[in-house]
Amino acid sequence: MALSDDFRDVVARKRDGQELTGDALRSFILAYARGEVGDPLAAAFLMAAYLRGLSPGETAAMTRAMIDSGRVLPLDGVSRPKVDKHSTGGVADGVTLVFAPLAASLGLAVAKLSGRGLGHTGGTLDKLEAIPGFRTALSPDELERQVGRIGCAVAGQTADLVPADGAIYALRDATATVASIPLIAASIMSKKLAVGTDLILLDVKAGGGAFMKTPEAAAELAGACTDLAAAWDRPCRAAVTDMSQPLGTAVGNALDVAEAIRVVRGEGGGRLRDLALLFAAEALTTLAGRAAAEARAEAARALSDGRAADAFARMIEAQGGDARVVEDPGAILPTAPVRRDVLAETTGYLESVDAEAVGRTAMALGAGRVKKGDSVDPAVGLEFFPKVGDPVTAGDVVARVHARDDDGAARAETSLRSAASWTEHPVDPPPLIYGWVGGATP
Ligand code: URA
Repeated sequence: MALSDDFRDVVARKRDGQELTGDALRSFILAYARGEVGDPLAAAFLMAAYLRGLSPGETAAMTRAMIDSGRVLPLDGVSRPKVDKHSTGGVADGVTLVFAPLAASLGLAVAKLSGRGLGHTGGTLDKLEAIPGFRTALSPDELERQVGRIGCAVAGQTADLVPADGAIYALRDATATVASIPLIAASIMSKKLAVGTDLILLDVKAGGGAFMKTPEAAAELAGACTDLAAAWDRPCRAAVTDMSQPLGTAVGNALDVAEAIRVVRGEGGGRLRDLALLFAAEALTTLAGRAAAEARAEAARALSDGRAADAFARMIEAQGGDARVVEDPGAILPTAPVRRDVLAETTGYLESVDAEAVGRTAMALGAGRVKKGDSVDPAVGLEFFPKVGDPVTAGDVVARVHARDDDGAARAETSLRSAASWTEHPVDPPPLIYGWVGGATP
């Protein structure tokens, strides 16, 4: 029997709801990564897995195969305690841009493999590439050397590290099979487990702007990820956090960087800063044995006394970027030719804002890509200022659009207006964090 007949049988068994053996699943994934299984059969497998689900054993086998499709990065040469933080994807979610230099400035090491924006969610690599000269294509050895030297590096996945995830993620995006708990868990955890860190922190987003629309679904995803970490004997904690509205203010690439710089310099507040501090404090507590309140205060000090900003500048310089951006973002980052303020039409409170629609508005301006391989415009995007529950007065600037032309700006204003709803009654803001899943020590 030809090889492809065997693999068709693997897909047929999953289609019929049978549990696959670890060996069958592993052979299938590795054959796809080597190009021996084509996209049509792999797409059929993904849809079968999406509809039928994967058992914990199948999810672990898929994760193992994805890790084994490339080399691993043990980071043995890095002496600092090593932490990784990964978000499942959201809107105005610049936490990594703040967390990586902040953790480095606290004596920890962060070797971060990040992704590009896809659909309505932003991507850390696209944001960093808005800084002139910034290079995200680091080889595994370069990544390790930089982390050893300055404590942090943020780079893209390479042909060496977890290549099967790169191929499968692109196919999932093209076949409407992204929002599956086992497939997301295997994708995220293969990348996290391939790097030798002492602690994995996950930011599992819940709400309209996330892949998981409810805190319950997000907690299930968090559990699937922490179960995988436990199977590998790796310390991991997952926070389920709110993505029912954009996390920060800026949705774009240069705009996101400018907002992160304000927070890193101790100038910006709000939920982006709070979440970055939460993860930094959790890392200090677990890896350096600090009491929770002391760890948070120490992390906040690193933002206000310039240590985190220095670490960010060092990371940018090491990756070829113009580090003057930390001092003067307005002079270094690209800007869009058209700015349009969106004014509140009534006095009242922000009742809700559809984070996915806000992300799609920025994408339509050119800040995101419709499909993998599209280029992004670093300068365009939007700022949406109020948070749910905030009071506004008619005439206040509630949003600012940064566009290439007037037509694009007008369309963005229309879609932002329909993304937000206002009420005359006070509204309780949603919590920032719904809770933690998993213990740091498996
Ligand atoms: N982030 C990932 O790395 N993979 C997914 O499948 C979803 C979010």
